[in-house]
Amino acid sequence: MTGKTAWVDETYQGVVRTGFRLKKRIFKGRSPFQEIEIVETAGHGRLLLIDGMTMVSERDEFVYHEMIAHPALFLHPKPRRVLVIGGGDGGTVRETLKHKSVESCTLVEIDALVVSASRRHLPRTAAALSDPRVRVLIEDGVKFAAETREAFDVVIVDSTEPFGPAKELFGPSFYKDVRRILTKDGIVASQAGSPFYEIATIKNLFGIMRPVFPVVEACLFSNLTYPGGLWAFTLATKGLHPVRDFVAARVGASKMKLGWYNAEIHAGSFALPSFLKGAIGR
Ligand code: SAM
Repeated sequence: MTGKTAWVDETYQGVVRTGFRLKKRIFKGRSPFQEIEIVETAGHGRLLLIDGMTMVSERDEFVYHEMIAHPALFLHPKPRRVLVIGGGDGGTVRETLKHKSVESCTLVEIDALVVSASRRHLPRTAAALSDPRVRVLIEDGVKFAAETREAFDVVIVDSTEPFGPAKELFGPSFYKDVRRILTKDGIVASQAGSPFYEIATIKNLFGIMRPVFPVVEACLFSNLTYPGGLWAFTLATKGLHPVRDFVAARVGASKMKLGWYNAEIHAGSFALPSFLKGAIGR
């Protein structure tokens, strides 16, 4: 007689629930910022949850991490120094290091427990954190951006949703600091949430970025584990347009083995549905 089937559920905005069939609980810990859990699921590999919200599933994290990193890194003519804020699971850093021009990748993650738990229990996602080009700083990305004297070609904000420690990462002063630390062709890619459930977050980000950056766009991708299955990133630049200035040949020439991103996906992902265009005043 098999035991009762166990599930791990994410309840999202109190209106939708996603259940993942549970095989084994692997890690659970509480840091000064949040509760972190890693479980083995029957259909999605290992799952990282923060405060009960799905962050990364081994089954489809390649989609998210390719799409948060490669549109900016292939748009930039020669990205050398990259800053990743958040992203303590290491997936965005892993994708960043696939670009041969990248000489250094600085990860600024506020929660040491996310990094240590990911290194231990999500090796496929976190392995790149041990690369010699990577510097891991455990601190607040808002503070780092306000105080650093360093300059970066690309900044990737791979944060949790705009609450708790991530709240200020969706604020105007943070993006003014990001603009200050970006080089001439600088680009910032940011986690922007669900166009279906968080259109206000996307609108807010456009409202904050438009006065700071001459070019502000959004790209969409679908994945398995996030509620609603459709997710958005914003991409703001000091001048480069993500479609008009994109050199598609760079992708093929890189010979990168990718599972989701390619030159056609790049161009197509910036085509937005009418309801989202309306919300951002297009
Ligand atoms: N892919 C996930 C998503 O879409 O929600 C995000 C992945 S990553 C685990 C999010 C990380 O952002 C968390 O580890 C969290 O600790 C970190 N974070 C939140 N606020 C931060 C801040 N102010 N500075 C640095 N890291 C922060």
